Amino acid sequence: MEQTETKLIHTGKEFNITPSVTPPIFQTSTYFAPDNADDYIKLANTTNSPWFYHRYGNPVHSQVIAILASLEGTESALLASSGMGAISTAVLAVVRQGDHVIVQRSHYAAANQLFHDLLPAFGIEVSIVEQSDNQSFENALRPNTRLIYLETPSNPILTLTDLEFVGQLGKKHGITTMCDNTFASPLNQRPHDYGIDIVVHSATKYLGGHSDLTAGAVCASHEWITKIWRRMLILGASLSSFDSWLLLKGLRTLSLRMNQINQNASELAVWLEQHPQVRNVIYCGLPSHPQYELAKKQMKGFSGMLCMEVTGETPEKQLENAQTVLNHVRIFANATSLGGVESLIVHPASMWGIKDFPDKQQQIGINNGTLRISVGIENIQDLIADLDQAFKAIN
Ligand code: PLP
Repeated sequence: MEQTETKLIHTGKEFNITPSVTPPIFQTSTYFAPDNADDYIKLANTTNSPWFYHRYGNPVHSQVIAILASLEGTESALLASSGMGAISTAVLAVVRQGDHVIVQRSHYAAANQLFHDLLPAFGIEVSIVEQSDNQSFENALRPNTRLIYLETPSNPILTLTDLEFVGQLGKKHGITTMCDNTFASPLNQRPHDYGIDIVVHSATKYLGGHSDLTAGAVCASHEWITKIWRRMLILGASLSSFDSWLLLKGLRTLSLRMNQINQNASELAVWLEQHPQVRNVIYCGLPSHPQYELAKKQMKGFSGMLCMEVTGETPEKQLENAQTVLNHVRIFANATSLGGVESLIVHPASMWGIKDFPDKQQQIGINNGTLRISVGIENIQDLIADLDQAFKAIN
């Protein structure tokens, strides 16, 4: 069987029916009908149909889908216009009024809004559990539990969920399990291998890898993808032709990028941990991470996301020091998002408007000194030197 690096270049190339080495961008909303009416009906009813109407699919989508399914080890996949498009569509394909959903305390903010605002408005009950405590998932089960939704490592403070435990729990009780694998990427972690039914991604991040597109993906069995695809036809979160083409281009180098990112982030985390102006470095690959053993068990690499706390005697001083670092970095960019070739750094408390709300910060597990970093593929010595000179600006 071909290895990942080869799959990234060659899987799905049968969908490029032109002689061009790089597939063209199919910038069309519709396709000529075949002569036979039965064939046309078949096209309209084929999941991810590449030759019918753009909302249904596109030839480049089909190529990307083949790659993503092979990366995640699932039968099939589908693409969406954003990570949230993929997540919302997948969740709304699984649950209905009267169902109960188990979610974690820590999720990407918009996913939290989906669970805490939108689902209850449609008569769906939601329970929140502590993801690092396996028993809390089991304790939250109810007769009407339809879905357990995971994110591991979770945004922002990289708490892990035991994928094998939840995968087995779902199988035992006939409950669908879904996992956001954005922070890890399929090169570092494959939730489906642990029994998770549906894997979702913000492809805007590592999969695309160049901060130039917005996309989402769902990877699952043919049966689930068909159900979710039918829901997507209604919700309309289809990915644009150009963004799917950019995504294909980005995927070609996923392995090279992730190797460099894993390596850079590991070295940076070790360096940060010994820096006098830093405390509490959170990185899945550090032995000091409270779930390091679980990280080693279910992750092949530890990805490029890390959090650190800039020191300071008071919350005000911590805020000032964190802002000083942000104002003095030259290579790191102060920008939200993650997973691109360039290193990014953000101050979560400011980004989410909670720098004056310690109780809200505590709920998320951050404080005024917390900085979140997405490590890119630059030279690691340059990244270290950049942070070092930014720390020196603190007085
Ligand atoms: N999931 C995670 C873990 C994220 O960090 C994000 C965005 O930052 C999303 C989902 C949503 O992705 P998108 O912005 O592509 O909708």
